[in-house]
Amino acid sequence: MKEQDVIIIGGGAAGFFAAINIAMQNPDLQVTILEKGKEGLQKVKISGGGRCNVTHAEFIPQELVQNYPRGEKELRGPFHQFMTGDTIEWFENNGVALKIEEDGRMFPESNSSQTIIDCFLGLAKKHKVHVAYSQTVKSIIPQENSWLIKTQSDEFQAKKLLVATGSSPKMWKLLETLSHAIIPPVPSLFTFDIKDKRIQGIPGVVAQHVEVKVVDSDLYSEGPLLITHVGMSAPAILKLSAFGAVELAKRNYKFSIAINFIKRSFQDCIEALKQLKFDLAKKTVLKTAQFDLPKRLWQQLVLAASISAETRWADLNKGQLEALAKQLTEAIFKVDGKSTFKDEFVTAGGVDLREINFKTFQSKLHENLYFAGEVLNIDAITGGFNFQNAWTGAYIAAQHISKS
Ligand SMILES: Cc1cc2nc3c(=O)[nH]c(=O)nc-3n(C[C@H](O)[C@H](O)[C@H](O)COP(=O)(O)OP(=O)(O)OC[C@H]3O[C@@H](n4cnc5c(N)ncnc54)[C@H](O)[C@@H]3O)c2cc1C
Repeated sequence: MKEQDVIIIGGGAAGFFAAINIAMQNPDLQVTILEKGKEGLQKVKISGGGRCNVTHAEFIPQELVQNYPRGEKELRGPFHQFMTGDTIEWFENNGVALKIEEDGRMFPESNSSQTIIDCFLGLAKKHKVHVAYSQTVKSIIPQENSWLIKTQSDEFQAKKLLVATGSSPKMWKLLETLSHAIIPPVPSLFTFDIKDKRIQGIPGVVAQHVEVKVVDSDLYSEGPLLITHVGMSAPAILKLSAFGAVELAKRNYKFSIAINFIKRSFQDCIEALKQLKFDLAKKTVLKTAQFDLPKRLWQQLVLAASISAETRWADLNKGQLEALAKQLTEAIFKVDGKSTFKDEFVTAGGVDLREINFKTFQSKLHENLYFAGEVLNIDAITGGFNFQNAWTGAYIAAQHISKS
């Protein structure tokens, strides 16, 4: 039996961040991470396409929380304690400079997730955090004033326990044995599979400002939209996949979306097209892309409105004008599945947030049991917000653990 002050289950983003902060804040505590893999931080390694999108340049807590389809309300308080600005400072104090990209995402200046891994491994060593690899936790047994933790090969005892196992169905099952309620997991952050003539042969085309609605629901998002080989991606779609994670799972990822490619009303668009009919009378519609739409997308939408390649603006009849306005402002596409977004994906679901005290990230059901990261029913849209959740929860839990 190995006795410890603190055991952290899971050597991922949240687990390492918590362990290091506990050890830094209270060097007297013995801290051990139990990690089932031969190495830890594997998601950090592949994150952000290998660059690790550490956080996001959004510094107002009320704005920041809006990026969390699950956790919006609960993270408000915690973000007043530790959020993006603190993350940047923490990494800078520990030798990792971060840079901001145009869209607000923040990466290590090195553009390599290995910088984050090296930082964590270096600090863990420096502050004497013990990391036990190839230790899969199989059971957690509450005892009087301590926890008994059994892995496939060893037994550990600790006064305080932090669970940071990410989206692990086995751990969620185990936590149910401790009476914690688990919100059933479903994928979040995925791209839409769409087979449609209008987007065939134009992968890579981006419409910068679109609105996307899921037909027969309140789900709505806006932003850039990317046509891919198998359907659609980019923030407009990814946001919808995150905010609609539960609803779209219920529909088995078969639903219709209405896209407004130009963010104007149908009627506005008709008026604009009428003016163009006059201004560009002698030009062919197909060759004169409008509304800042990429040429190839414009052409597909024109053809979909049954306007032939040779038709001139002056020759457009009322029906064709309306059909084109419909394609531009209310184009319906059938989604018949989802694909993984390779740069980042997360799972919605996890430990029910009603059972967590967000001042400390402690369980309301068991004293000295803490949670941080994706094990909780918190997830965000893409952009560095998922890691921010891991850093915030881990830091606050660490503060409480190291003081008590
Ligand atoms: C491809 C990809 C790219 C991503 N890119 C980004 C990004 O750029 N920015 C961003 O903000 N988010 C990104 N994410 C999301 C982000 O990686 C997660 O939200 C984050 O890693 C969650 O941290 P965590 O510590 O809770 O879980 P994890 O990082 O998943 O760590 C959990 C750890 O627990 C271990 N474990 C599980 N069960 C047990 C057990 N029973 N016993 C012992 N150990 C166990 C696992 O092996 C793992 O090491 C990405 C996700 C993916 C999949």
